Formats: sequence, structure tokens, C-alpha cells
Amino acid sequence: MFDSLSDRLTGALKDLRGKGRLSDADIDRTCREIRLALLEADVSLPVVRAFIARIKERAKGAEVSAALNPAQTVVKIVNEELIGILGGETRRVRFAKNPPTVIMLAGLQGAGKTTLAGKLGNWLKQQGHTPLLVACDLQRPGAVSQLQIVGERAGVQVFAPHPGTSIGGEGTLGVTSGDPVSVAKAGVDEAKAKHYDVVVIDTAGRLGIDAELMKQASDIRDATSPDEVLFVVDAMIGQDAVSTAEAFADGVGFTGVVLTKLDGDARGGAALSVREVTGQPIMFASSGEKLEDFDVFHPDRMASRILGMGDVLSLIEQAEQHWDAEQAEAAAAKITQGELTLEDFLEQMLMIRKMGPIGNILGMLPGAGQMKDALSQVDDKQLDRVQAIIRGMTPAERDNPKIINASRRLRIANGSGVTVSEVNQLVDRFYEARKMMAQMSGRMGMGAMNRKSN
Ligand code: GDP
Repeated sequence: MFDSLSDRLTGALKDLRGKGRLSDADIDRTCREIRLALLEADVSLPVVRAFIARIKERAKGAEVSAALNPAQTVVKIVNEELIGILGGETRRVRFAKNPPTVIMLAGLQGAGKTTLAGKLGNWLKQQGHTPLLVACDLQRPGAVSQLQIVGERAGVQVFAPHPGTSIGGEGTLGVTSGDPVSVAKAGVDEAKAKHYDVVVIDTAGRLGIDAELMKQASDIRDATSPDEVLFVVDAMIGQDAVSTAEAFADGVGFTGVVLTKLDGDARGGAALSVREVTGQPIMFASSGEKLEDFDVFHPDRMASRILGMGDVLSLIEQAEQHWDAEQAEAAAAKITQGELTLEDFLEQMLMIRKMGPIGNILGMLPGAGQMKDALSQVDDKQLDRVQAIIRGMTPAERDNPKIINASRRLRIANGSGVTVSEVNQLVDRFYEARKMMAQMSGRMGMGAMNRKSN
């Protein structure tokens, strides 16, 4: 996501490096490049114009600061303005004082509403809420059962219109009519009666904007008085995202935006235009089909990601959620002493993988944009194979890989469905890595490492 925009922007800004003073001509040239980068990323023209005008004005009038050189000053301005068009402060969900909080999802068919309902349910549950998902998309065949499937996956109750169809049997009231408004109302009543504190209403979409769709969405809105109406939009539809957003803003009104499919080859324009055009904040971003491919949208983090400065904050947050500090410390001590075993290695790997797909994790590191090609080669399948190989070993072998002789290698390879040379590679590399890590952390110490890399 945002890869080419990120490349172009960092390219434009890199040219400024090393300059002691920036002339107006330097700034004009850089702004031209930024403008092209944004247009190519499908950002809408009025947004680009306003953005460039602000950057030009601020860059030309910028005070020379002692801390930053002129090029850094421009990067800082671009970063701040990017954060600005992405919405400034992170916008959190506004929970109702008197539960249940009602969150209604609206958007075109295929935007990702049903998938999002599951992700939201999962996320809300992790935050300590007790959500109820309500299936009001009675238009699209299979939408109700799709919601039930994602609800089950997330471990969240689903309120569905037909008796007997809800997961666990609990979430069903006797609403048999195919009327989405009554289902929505009954869902909210159910939440009140059974003390669910958040209701997520999945609504029907159409392939295009039409009056009937808007009317149904507004009727559901009027019947349930939602605390949040989230407009769900597929980032891959590019410029159309803006016109669709405007139509929904007029027809239904919304309080926040959710961008979906940011994992696709979206050029990012939707993200950069929708907030500016509708005035409503982007609240969540969805980047895949799995429940965990979902996050609160942080404009500042997204801006630094676009500018190739990495998304270290998100990485730290995910690490905090999944990291077992004691285990990590124990492993670090073993690394220093050169005593790391394959068992420890496997544990560390499993811990890191809990944070999400490996490509996503590495992609958050600063400079990841420039290492794209190398990173694309690190995939989860490779890690799966490494895991399979280690799992194919006996505890004694994991503890002391030195005993893994040729016949053991053959057994491990057969047992884990890989070739002997893959087993060889893993064992050899493990020795090398263990030696190197021990040397680096033990004998050289951090100071020496820093000096060496400078
Ligand atoms: P709805 O019609 O708005 O309810 O859309 P769905 O939730 O059914 O999503 C439409 C399709 O997009 C489904 O195949 C989803 O699996 C897929 N989808 C939803 N969100 C994402 C996402 O963030 N990334 C990707 N790659 N696919 C998504």
C-alpha cells in the first residue's frame, strides 16, 4: 500500500538533501515532483492543489532552525501537511454514555462491510467490549450466513433475522420478516435486553449509488439512532471513492470512514482524498481478509509510513500485545552465552509470528520501502517450513543440534515434508547465526556495534 507514492515522495525529498540553502527554485521543483507523485497516486486534484499550495507557502516562509537543515525542514512540513490531510489526530470510536453504542456500517456492495463487521467485533472484544453483530444486509444472497461465519470466527454473537440461524442459538429473536429496518431495531433491543454494550449493524449495499439504497440506509439510521455511522470504502476504486463518499455523505451522512483493501495495489489516493473532501475522519483501515488484518487508523503513523519513516509505533504496539517479556529476556541471555537452542528459536519465531504476517511486520520498519524486493522474498510459507523442520526434531535434537547426523537429517526431512538439503541449510545457518549473535552481543557489546555501523 502506498508503495509507489512513498517511493516518489522520498525520491523528491532526497534530492534536497545536502543542500545548505534552498532557493525558491529548489522548492518549486520539489513541489512539482510531489504534485506529480500525488496525482499519480490518484489523489483528487483539488486536494493536491491545496496541499501543494500549503507546502510551498510554508517552505518558502520557513524559519531557519538550528535543529533542522533546510531539507529536513521541508520533510517536516510535508509530514505535517500529510498528517493534516489524513485527518490530524487519531479519531477514536465515540462510545455512548448509556450502552449499547450503536455502530452502523454503510457503503457499496463489495466494499467489505460484512468482513469489517467481523473485524470490528473481534477488535471490540479485544478491547473488553461485548459486541453484537446485526445482519441487516438482506439483499445480497449469503450476506447473513457470511456474517454468521465471520462472527463465529471472531467469537462474537450474531443477531440474524431468521430463527435458528444465529450462531450459538442465543442471538435470535423472532423476526422473520425480510425487513432490514425491523431487524436493526430488534437487534438493538436484543442488545439492551441481553446487555451487549456495542451493536454493529451490517447493512445492504448496491453495486452503484441509488435512491432506494440511500433510503434504506437512512431508515435504518433513523430507527436505531447510531452513535457512529461508518462509511466503508474500497481503497482500490481510486477516484470513485471520492464521488461515492460524497453521495453517502449527502444521502445518509456518516461520522467516520473505514478504508478497506489497502493490501491491494491501491495507489492510496482514496486515503488521501476522502477525509479532505468529506471532512469526516478515517477511523479504521482494513488490509486483508483475515480478522487481524485491521487497525485503528493513525494519521501520523500513516504519514511517516508514506514518507518511508517506518511505522515503529504500530510495531511496538503489536509487540506489546504479543510479547512475552520474560521469555524474550531468557532467550537474550542464552544468545549472549551462545546457548540458544532450536527450541528457543522456535519459541521466539512463534512469538513474532503472533504479531501478524511476517511481510506486514517487516514492512513497518523504517526504510522498508527501499528494501521491498528483499522483503518480498521473506514469506510466511518459508517460515512455515522452518517451523515444520524444527517440529520434526526430537527434544534432544532441538537442544543440541550437533547430534543431528545424516540419518537423523533424512528422518527429519521425511517427517516434515522437506528435502534433506533444506534441513542441512537450517541446521548450518542456525550454527552460524548463533555464533554471530553471541559474538555481537557478548564480546563486542552494543557500543562496539554502534561504532562499527557508523
Ligand atoms: P460487503 O458487500 O460490503 O459486505 O463486502 P464483503 O465484506 O462481502 O467483502 C467483499 C469481498 O472483499 C470479500 O471477498 C472479502 O473477503 C473481500 N475483502 C474485504 N475486506 C478486504 C480487505 O481489506 N482486503 C482484501 N484483500 N479483501 C477484502
